[in-house]
Amino acid sequence: MTTERSLDPVPEMSGGIAALARVRIVLVETSHPGNIGAAARAMKNMGLGRLTLVAPRRFPDAEATARASGADDILQRARVVPDLAAALADCSLVAGATARLRTISSPVLAPREAGTALLEAAAGGAEVALVFGRERSGLTNAEMARCHYLVQIPTAPGFSSLNLAQAVQVLAYELLLAAGAPRPRPPDQDAYPPATSEQMEGFFRHLEQVLYAVGFLKPPQSRTLMRRLRRLFLRARPDCNEINILRGILSAVDEREE
Ligand code: SAH
Repeated sequence: MTTERSLDPVPEMSGGIAALARVRIVLVETSHPGNIGAAARAMKNMGLGRLTLVAPRRFPDAEATARASGADDILQRARVVPDLAAALADCSLVAGATARLRTISSPVLAPREAGTALLEAAAGGAEVALVFGRERSGLTNAEMARCHYLVQIPTAPGFSSLNLAQAVQVLAYELLLAAGAPRPRPPDQDAYPPATSEQMEGFFRHLEQVLYAVGFLKPPQSRTLMRRLRRLFLRARPDCNEINILRGILSAVDEREE
């Protein structure tokens, strides 16, 4: 049970959803099963579902399941293969995520460009993969050479290596954006329409009348003051419920005055 305010569930998303489901995340020789679980969770949060593990050191593993916290279906469906060639055999577009760009074998894309390129290709029916390297040593030059593109997440200078699952999270988020991410919706009970001009003018008349009645407004400066107050309340763009509350306050003052 979750009480968190949530976005529209991913299945309500426009066309991108089918494409998103076709993007394959490939983790190469992962050492820590916790990272595999955390990557699965990051994937599920962002609407991705296909995980391929190349020769993981420990899998399946209780730590992976624990860190997946609810994304264990992705772990159960994960494909385990002996080498990268097997993971990518049927893919026609492959991007490799790398913290380092020592020997650049392929064009380097920013995360947003990579998200768009992979999603577009997947939407066109292609099998596409996003490959992540080992915790300690990343991807080898030979593995990077298999990629059509490399993707680097920008970081602070001199500290470019993200945790594996966090790198998966950032790039999965870009894929979700490329698919047309759902926008947050405020809960319905908050959705009052903005006050109309007529409601605003009714409020200003009421305000002016009460401010006179309590002796706050006095003829010479009253125009300037009312102009200032109008500017203040118009800037706030109150909704009609808020105007009702303000008028309720004015009425309460009015009644005391009588
Ligand atoms: N020490 C390794 C980094 C390994 S981090 C190295 O220097 O290469 C594990 C994996 O997370 C990397 O292989 C890469 O796929 C991904 N990753 C980490 N930081 C990244 C970054 N800034 N941009 C893109 N991918 C990154």
